[in-house]
Amino acid sequence: MSSRAVKLTGWGRISPSWAELTEPASAADAAALLRDGAARGVIARGLGRSYNDAAQCDGGVVASTARLNRIIELDAAGGRVTCQAGVSLEQLMVAGLPAGWFVPVSPAPGR
Ligand SMILES: Cc1cc2nc3c(=O)[nH]c(=O)nc-3n(C[C@H](O)[C@H](O)[C@H](O)COP(=O)(O)OP(=O)(O)OC[C@H]3O[C@@H](n4cnc5c(N)ncnc54)[C@H](O)[C@@H]3O)c2cc1C
Repeated sequence: MSSRAVKLTGWGRISPSWAELTEPASAADAAALLRDGAARGVIARGLGRSYNDAAQCDGGVVASTARLNRIIELDAAGGRVTCQAGVSLEQLMVAGLPAGWFVPVSPAPGR
């Protein structure tokens, strides 16, 4: 799986660090990445919007979930969704709203 060196931060854009960024496109890719990269350390990264738990892994491997963005099943009657790890809140809302569902927690500006 290809990777590239990138400088990463969290949402606050402080304390940047370098890591090898990879973008697994399947569960099998992600499993292989965890197995092969274990010695260096591998963490997942979503949209990089966390205030505190920034997905950086200085000197290690960061697995972006950007390509794991498929909604597998939406139970419109029960409001349960099965999806891959990189599905965004926007995707969930677009998929769920027509059936009357909204995510229970959504990001909002602080006071
Ligand atoms: C303007 C703003 C407003 C916000 N308001 C709210 C709010 O009202 N309520 C609220 O709850 N939050 C709020 N947040 C926080 C925000 O919702 C979360 O920090 C963000 O959704 C985390 O998702 P991410 O994909 O950006 O995670 P990242 O920043 O990419 O990662 C955060 C952490 O999760 C880990 N991680 C990411 N993906 C996975 C995965 N698939 N498996 C395992 N670990 C993973 C990373 O390794 C890292 O440790 C707000 C953020 C912003 C910027």
